[in-house]
Amino acid sequence: MKKIIIAIDGHSSCGKSTFAKEIAKKMCYTFIDTGAMYRAVTLWAIENNLIDNAQEIVANLDKVVINFKFNEQLERSEIYLNGKNVDSEIRLMHVSDNVSAVSAIAEVREKLVALQQQMGQDKGIVMDGRDIGTTVFPSAELKIFMTASVEVRAQRRFDELTQKGESVQMEHIKTNIQQRDFADENREQSPLRKADDAIVLDNSAMTVEEQMQWVDRLIIDKTE
Ligand code: C5P
Repeated sequence: MKKIIIAIDGHSSCGKSTFAKEIAKKMCYTFIDTGAMYRAVTLWAIENNLIDNAQEIVANLDKVVINFKFNEQLERSEIYLNGKNVDSEIRLMHVSDNVSAVSAIAEVREKLVALQQQMGQDKGIVMDGRDIGTTVFPSAELKIFMTASVEVRAQRRFDELTQKGESVQMEHIKTNIQQRDFADENREQSPLRKADDAIVLDNSAMTVEEQMQWVDRLIIDKTE
């Protein structure tokens, strides 16, 4: 069976990571959540009081070391920022509120895209984000562009955060999702857009199992 690169892009909070993780598990591929990498840089900028200072973020970028380590118990990779596990912290609302501004900085993207390309050099990878099929791996064998209604996406994010014990307002989540979509689609550097050869998946009314059934045939076609 041929090893391939699977690129999953799309709107905020539509279950890209959940879907990508399932595919990776099934195929014994590596899963990389690139949103987590942009979130980790954002967390670092917040912790160092640099959030409104793009120039200083760029000047100090070499101090940011990001890597993933596999957690055997959880059966998934977790993200580390300068040696510290920040996998939960990067999902908090104050990071979500600032991440689109940080991810619009050209030098931040350059650094993270280079890292991502390195991670996928041997293929056998499922990567999710906003620019994987367009910029990181334009020649990926399988590209999927995911979307879902704003209401469904907000409800999913609300459930995820409240389950973790964070007290959040539905309206705040909805506004954050809409603002991030707008910022991601309208930035100058690698804006979020569907690659010409990507296949659209609207999962508003689909379970994860149904999404896996949907992708099955596509994977067989691409790996045979
Ligand atoms: O996927 P997630 O919602 O965690 O991503 C957080 C943010 O990181 C996005 O809203 C976007 O601004 C940025 N991002 C990006 N390019 C990627 C992945 C995420 O700009 N490949």
